[in-house]
Amino acid sequence: MINVIYKDVYFCGKKVIVIGGRFGGLTFAYNLKRTVGDKADIELIEKNSGTYLRPLIPHISIGSVEPEEIYLDLSNVLPRKGIRFTQGTVKGIEPQKNSISVEMQDGSVVRKDYDYLLIAMGAHLGKERVAGSEQFGYSLCEVEDVLKLKEKLESFSGGNITIGSGIFYQGKMPKPSVPENYLPRAESACEGPIFEMSLMLAGYLKRRGLEKKTKITIYSPGEYLSDLSKESRNTVKSLYDQLGYQLVEKFVLKEFSSDAVLSEDGRSLKSDLSIYKPPYEGHEIFRKMAGDLADDGGFIPTDMTMVSLKYDNVYCVGDANSASVIKLGYSAVRMAEIAAQHLSNRLGVKTHVDTFTPIIYCIADNPYGGFGISVSDNTLYGGSVSKAVPSPLNHFKKEMFKKYFMWTGGDMVLEKYFSGW
Ligand SMILES: Cc1cc2nc3c(=O)[nH]c(=O)nc-3n(C[C@H](O)[C@H](O)[C@H](O)COP(=O)(O)OP(=O)(O)OC[C@H]3O[C@@H](n4cnc5c(N)ncnc54)[C@H](O)[C@@H]3O)c2cc1C
Repeated sequence: MINVIYKDVYFCGKKVIVIGGRFGGLTFAYNLKRTVGDKADIELIEKNSGTYLRPLIPHISIGSVEPEEIYLDLSNVLPRKGIRFTQGTVKGIEPQKNSISVEMQDGSVVRKDYDYLLIAMGAHLGKERVAGSEQFGYSLCEVEDVLKLKEKLESFSGGNITIGSGIFYQGKMPKPSVPENYLPRAESACEGPIFEMSLMLAGYLKRRGLEKKTKITIYSPGEYLSDLSKESRNTVKSLYDQLGYQLVEKFVLKEFSSDAVLSEDGRSLKSDLSIYKPPYEGHEIFRKMAGDLADDGGFIPTDMTMVSLKYDNVYCVGDANSASVIKLGYSAVRMAEIAAQHLSNRLGVKTHVDTFTPIIYCIADNPYGGFGISVSDNTLYGGSVSKAVPSPLNHFKKEMFKKYFMWTGGDMVLEKYFSGW
């Protein structure tokens, strides 16, 4: 019976295709459906059958979270709210024809037409840009990566560990139509996961009695945590001094070997275990559309309502949007809320459209240390908010965030969650 109702919902209204089933795509699909109901026939296309809550992925490497605790089966949660789910990989977008091509699970390629398209495909993690990454690099970003890292950490008995971020290939032209102060140049797409991993390792190594046998070096392609205020960065530096960590800046990752990490300018850091966040760049599909749908880095420029500058019926949110600097889950969610509000109005449901204002919100967790550091900072964009608060409560908040994501099936109201920080 319920299926019949959903079927009715599916096949009425304007056809809205959403590509990408993480923060940006999920938030947009849920919010739009809630607001416009059967005025939109929403189909979300994701290359995986489900999604892992990314901010908790690094935790898997130290054994404080199991993969299944943070896994959402999209084929289950989306249809329950009247949203169609298709597992498939988008291979091409033809915005002039309002059409995309999708490679399905069986290898067939299907063309799908839309009235409106929402792109939330994130960014490409350019592991292939770092020589030796397959053999010697341990990425923090996806579950298959951190399971490999977990195994390596379990057999680690002391030595040199390096942690750092690859470079961010940020596009330059055409620029999105947003205030100039929203577009700082950034060498790293986001160093939050590096900072968090450096904290988590302190707790993990202590627990295993390895802290005195291990030397940890953090490197950054620019100034470390340059998205935070000078005061916050100095606090981090003194924390690293206390922990005995070495910080190396302006180190552009080039290569991993069995016992070192090498930079573009020929420097070398000793490394028995090389943990990293790969270079960040636009997806190839968009890099090929530079100057059309995308900018020269393969990111998509939009206006403040997340509408493409080139195609009026195409929206883009989250990491794929060129106005998302620094790349953060919070920005992806806010952008998606705004895009859904904007499209609701176009579909005849009058709704207030919020204004996007960038701010860094995150928690760097240290589960075995029993605390986390909550960060809220907009100094990168010319604002005056700069808070970095260590507290046991912040570890608890990250834990609650995980539960909130899972309980709601990724249908979160982050503004309400973060306003209490
Ligand atoms: C290790 C790590 C930890 C992080 N921790 C935090 C944190 O604590 N707080 C925070 O705010 N941010 C954090 N971030 C950043 C945050 O995860 C991203 O900014 C956010 O996930 C962006 O959301 P998105 O929906 O735009 O893109 P993504 O999360 O990248 O999702 C894109 C989706 O599109 C799918 N997709 C891609 N290409 C295709 C295709 N061709 N066809 C179909 N589907 C496709 C992908 O499979 C993916 O599911 C972290 C990032 C990393 C790497």
